[in-house]
Amino acid sequence: MLARPFIEKGSSFPMTSSFLHCMDKVFGRQHSSSSFVPRHMPAKEEDVDKLSQLLSVSKNIVVLTGAGISTESGIPDYRSEGVGLYARSNNRPVQYQNFLKSEGVRKRYWARNYVGWPRFSSFQPNATHLGISKLMNEDGIVQCVVTQNVDSLHLKANTKNVIELHGTAFRVICLGCSFTIERHAFQHLLAKLNPDMKIVEQMMRPDGDVEMTQAQVECFNVPSCPSCGGILKPDIVFFGDNVPRKRVEAVQNEVKLCDALLVLGTSLTVFSAYRIILQAAELHKAIAIVNIGETRGDKLASIKVNAKCGDVIPQLCR
Ligand SMILES: [Zn+2]
Repeated sequence: MLARPFIEKGSSFPMTSSFLHCMDKVFGRQHSSSSFVPRHMPAKEEDVDKLSQLLSVSKNIVVLTGAGISTESGIPDYRSEGVGLYARSNNRPVQYQNFLKSEGVRKRYWARNYVGWPRFSSFQPNATHLGISKLMNEDGIVQCVVTQNVDSLHLKANTKNVIELHGTAFRVICLGCSFTIERHAFQHLLAKLNPDMKIVEQMMRPDGDVEMTQAQVECFNVPSCPSCGGILKPDIVFFGDNVPRKRVEAVQNEVKLCDALLVLGTSLTVFSAYRIILQAAELHKAIAIVNIGETRGDKLASIKVNAKCGDVIPQLCR
């Protein structure tokens, strides 16, 4: 699954080579925002024209987005050749079950998440997010955005109807009761509980990693739920967990109502996203994909634009 937080690390420290995912996607200043965009060719004019024609006859488009649209904001994806997290590191995201079972895993996760949060939460929407927002709010042809990203960039771009398929990094929930806390507020709480843990520039590696000693992680204090004492977790669908049923149904309803599905910046590797395009194909909806490189849904699409979303979406908004 794309764009969910944190990479699990073995027991060795310091964590010099492991990637934090999501807020773990915290990058040093040496990187430009395009450092995580895979190599690509310019969009072909004829492809953009075809896409433009599709949009001109569509009234209710569902847009499905993935990590590929946030790379231009400086957040890496997982799978892109050479520049994605998987290409840069052997580490993989923490599994949901491990997070549940192990206090040590949770402590390590939250310590790294705490350090990475200021940078992760500061990323800004790019031309693609803003273009989609315009297509919804001004042109009225996009009815819903379904995103696999947990970076809140669609919401920061003021997009009205967004379904965050895999949740959001900007909220923390209790696994035992209905308690939730906004992530910025949780950062203040973590800061109070960990006055000795100073976030300093030296902890941020240019490759996106956060460097901490084992002692720093072991000393990190993670609060329990103030309401029931339960485990607190980002409101994100971790690897090994399922998208909540109601959210799946909400997406299915949007796809039923739409006349076209526009897929942007995702390889559709993860099934929770792939099944959306399967449903659209089954219902004979028009399907268009803009992505650098192949996707799992290419055969189902009537239009495939092999290009960077930021080169294409602004052209559709003229
Ligand atoms: Zn609770």
